[in-house]
Amino acid sequence: MSLYPHAVAMSADEFMSWSTTLINDLLSSGVRRTIDNLTGPIWSWAMKNSMHPLHWGLACCALEMAQASAPRFDAERYGMIYRSSPRQTDILLVNGWISKKIRPDIRRLWEEMPGPKWAVAMGECAISGGPWYDSYNTVQGLDQIIPVDLYIPGCPARPDAMIDGFMLLQKKIDSYFKRGVLLKDR
Ligand code: SF4
Repeated sequence: MSLYPHAVAMSADEFMSWSTTLINDLLSSGVRRTIDNLTGPIWSWAMKNSMHPLHWGLACCALEMAQASAPRFDAERYGMIYRSSPRQTDILLVNGWISKKIRPDIRRLWEEMPGPKWAVAMGECAISGGPWYDSYNTVQGLDQIIPVDLYIPGCPARPDAMIDGFMLLQKKIDSYFKRGVLLKDR
């Protein structure tokens, strides 16, 4: 297929058909992997230094999350800035016990986030139910609802533990982009 068609003479439908075929040809010919490998380090650098967790606390561990952003710990110096919309976030940070009633909302928030994205369970409640282990109305961990990338233990999980966990997540983000699968949604 020619890369230089007479695009001016094409109708809108013809142009869409031509461009779709061209992109599919490129993707299947190994160009996709080359582009991924070349741009991976740039994406990795950008994403691991600008982590945007959803600003959404469920219980007492959320106070530690707030403290992590206060001047003493200053999580922002690592690029952690909370956003209030799932559309603008790449990390779902869940801290606090998860009632069965809120389970569909967590799932929906996760699905509304664009990929690539990561999930973090902060504190014993989000990891395994914590003090409410085996309770009739509490989900026994975030990983019962969505895949979890990082667990930050503690009751509560301290702000410095949270920052340490996010630095581990930076390594995970880095290795994700080094795999060279950027165009494959996560
Ligand atoms: S882990 Fe402990 S501090 Fe954190 S939300 Fe549960 S009960 Fe509260």
